Amino acid sequence: MDAVTTDTFDSLSPLDGRVVDTFPVRGPAEVVSAVDRARRAAREWRSLGFEGRRRALQAWRRDIVAHLDDLIAVVRAETGKPRGDARLEIMLALDHLAWAATHARPVLRRRRVGAGVLMLNQSASVGYTPYGVVGVIGPWNYPVFTPMGSIAYALAAGNAVVFKPSEYTPGVGVWLQRSFVRAGGSADVFAVVTGLGPTGAALCRAGVDKVAFTGSTATGKAVMAACAESLTPVVIEAGGKDALLVDEDADLAAAAEAAVWGAYSNAGQTCIGIERVYAHAKIYDRFVEAVAERTRELRAGADDAATLGPLTMPRQADVVRAHVADALARGATARVGSTPAPGVTLQPVLLTDVDEEADAVREETFGPTLVVNRVASMDEAVEKANAVRYGLSGSVFSRRRGSELALRLRGGMIAINSVISFAAVPALPFGGVGDSGFGRIHGADGLREFAYPKALTRQRFPLLTLTTMRRTAKVDRLVERIIRLLYG
Ligand code: NDP
Repeated sequence: MDAVTTDTFDSLSPLDGRVVDTFPVRGPAEVVSAVDRARRAAREWRSLGFEGRRRALQAWRRDIVAHLDDLIAVVRAETGKPRGDARLEIMLALDHLAWAATHARPVLRRRRVGAGVLMLNQSASVGYTPYGVVGVIGPWNYPVFTPMGSIAYALAAGNAVVFKPSEYTPGVGVWLQRSFVRAGGSADVFAVVTGLGPTGAALCRAGVDKVAFTGSTATGKAVMAACAESLTPVVIEAGGKDALLVDEDADLAAAAEAAVWGAYSNAGQTCIGIERVYAHAKIYDRFVEAVAERTRELRAGADDAATLGPLTMPRQADVVRAHVADALARGATARVGSTPAPGVTLQPVLLTDVDEEADAVREETFGPTLVVNRVASMDEAVEKANAVRYGLSGSVFSRRRGSELALRLRGGMIAINSVISFAAVPALPFGGVGDSGFGRIHGADGLREFAYPKALTRQRFPLLTLTTMRRTAKVDRLVERIIRLLYG
């Protein structure tokens, strides 16, 4: 490795401020060298074929399961989330890893397509070729589940991966790579470069063939701008401001339970978390009471019995405080909690009757707060839910109109009578529109995101050759006759 860095940074635990571990800050030269090694290693990885890669990825999956408690401990130490939440995200990530490993072949293998009337003499097929080296830039909120949605799918498609974990969760990234190597994988096929923002920026400029970014919309724009310099394709999974709609005929207990879990689990640091609820006026008061009752049962803390952990990123706590204060200043009611006190351990806040122009309604809060507003009709609910720049996901509780309302919501993923369930279905694509980004991870679309289609035609016998300078007027007339017959 050339120009080895001497800079390091500490990963601090939000639970008690202790240093979890110290990691190198990788500079541009080291990132380029990691990408170069990944490119060489990618050849062998690709030559394993779908079956060889499936076996390697399943071995990795088994290694993660075998060392589960260890990974849970690292996730908890670096993010502060309760052990149960850490376990759940790892379970979901394993399900995706297994799905990507076994479905890469049926989704990406070469298949015949009809050649059409004019090219009857051709055999036509399409297959998917891996890009080569994929750069993955991940966030800290689900440091296993979220990057795995890119890493597993990119590897299964036949790429090598260079992963830059968030500066708040470098230990999780390094752990995942060690596990991959322990399971027999090459450290160059799945490489990890630790560092701060500039290391991520360096990865965009290090000659990777595609970048998969998950993080904030603002950083997503910077990543896209950096990738534009070399026309490197990107997939952007950015933030959200997801809404849950509650119709007058909904199961209110189930809707309240879903709203509380969607809003407060992982201390609200979930891109597809519920930040707003629009509830029909006919059931509004009863629904709010049910949500308030469940919210009062929650407690944030660093101890093992706490239902919510502290916030992982200290500066996010200031955003949450500012959003709550702004909503209250505009006349909202705090049904549970109030503007959070200084520090990173934020107790849950339930706000009702919030001005639609408030930051708590329009901007991503990314903390343990929930806005519940009253609507006169479900049409109004859809309109208000769609009136933000984000379009990631959402949820609808309704007995009669679930599908109709879900299809009218703007966003890449909608759950009917549940929350966030789509993220746990590996066959479903995951991603958003608008400020939530573009491109898809997960599912068949997620596999295709990391491979480009390669079209082949093979001439079986000569017939009506159109691509010759010696083409005769008779052939032209014949083609015209066929086209008129078919499409006239
Ligand atoms: P950031 O945008 O701050 O960071 C994301 C990653 O980008 C980190 O690894 C970060 O490194 C890196 N980075 C920072 N600056 C640059 C740069 N100039 N060029 C390249 N990479 C850079 O997001 P957060 O980590 O704060 O994550 C929270 C956000 O992620 C929320 O908005 C959330 O909604 C979104 N998110 C979206 C998901 C989705 O699938 N749609 C899923 C999960 C989260 P470093 O940490 O070292 O600064």
